[in-house]
Amino acid sequence: MKVNIVELKPKKAVLRIEDTNPYFVNSLRRIMLSELPKLAVEDIVIYDNTSPLFDEIISHRLGLVPIPTDLSLLSFRDECVCKGKGCPNCTVRYTLSKEGQGVVRSGDLLPEEKSWAITENNITIVELFNDQRLILEVEAVLGRGRDHAKWQPVQAPGFKYYPIVEIDHKKCNLCNKCVEICPKNILEIKNDKLFVNDIEKCTTCQSCVEICENNAISARGDDSKIIFHFETDGSLTAKDALRESSKILAEKYAEFSKLLKKLK
Ligand SMILES: [Zn+2]
Repeated sequence: MKVNIVELKPKKAVLRIEDTNPYFVNSLRRIMLSELPKLAVEDIVIYDNTSPLFDEIISHRLGLVPIPTDLSLLSFRDECVCKGKGCPNCTVRYTLSKEGQGVVRSGDLLPEEKSWAITENNITIVELFNDQRLILEVEAVLGRGRDHAKWQPVQAPGFKYYPIVEIDHKKCNLCNKCVEICPKNILEIKNDKLFVNDIEKCTTCQSCVEICENNAISARGDDSKIIFHFETDGSLTAKDALRESSKILAEKYAEFSKLLKKLK
C-alpha cells in the first residue's frame, strides 16, 4: 500500500491511498467516527444561571465545545488508576464565571492548567443581559463517538475511487457537449484534442458519457486507488487523528487475528 498526502492542514487532510481496497479504507473511516477518543464535557455543576437559557441547553452547548486533546496524557475514566473517581490523569476541569451584558463564549471556560486552554474559543454559549449571571464548573473526560457525537473528533470522513476517464480520439468529433455539461469543468479542448485537465476533481457522474453521441468517452473509478478526506473539529489535529485511528485499527486487526487463531 502507498499513501500520498494530497493536502494536510491542521484540521483537514486529503490522502491518495494506492494498492488498497474499499473495505480497508472504510474501516479506517468507521474507526474515525466511532472509536477515536477525544475530550468532551461530561459533568457540569451550575452554581448560578439567570441567563435566558435553561441549564440543560447550556450543558448541551458546553458538551459540544471542542477541547484540545492530548491523548498521550490521558486515560479513560473507567480504566484510570483512580477507579472512576476523577483525577488529573482522566479528568480536565474548567470554570466559567460571567456576569452582566455580553456574550459568553467557549473561550470563557478557564482550565485548571493553562495547557488545556480552549483553542476554539469563539463559540457562542449564551448572551447575557443587564445583571444576568452564569457561574459553573465542568469536567471533561475522554470518550468515543460510538457513545455520543460530542466525542467524535472527525467530521465527514469520506472517500471516492480514483477516477479514470478514457477518451477515444478516433470517435470524438470535438462537439464540445461534454466540456459544457461537466459539472466540475475538467474537460477541455486544446489543439483539436479533448483532454482532462484535473482528473482528481472528477466524480464519475457520467454526464459526459451520457451526452456523447459517439460513445467516445468513458468514466469509471479504480477501487484499488482511493481518495480519502476528512476534517477534525480542532480537538485533534488531522495528523494526530489519522495516526491514532491507524493505531486503533491495527490493534483491532491484531485482536481479530488472535481470536481467529483460537478457532482452529
Ligand atoms: Zn483518574
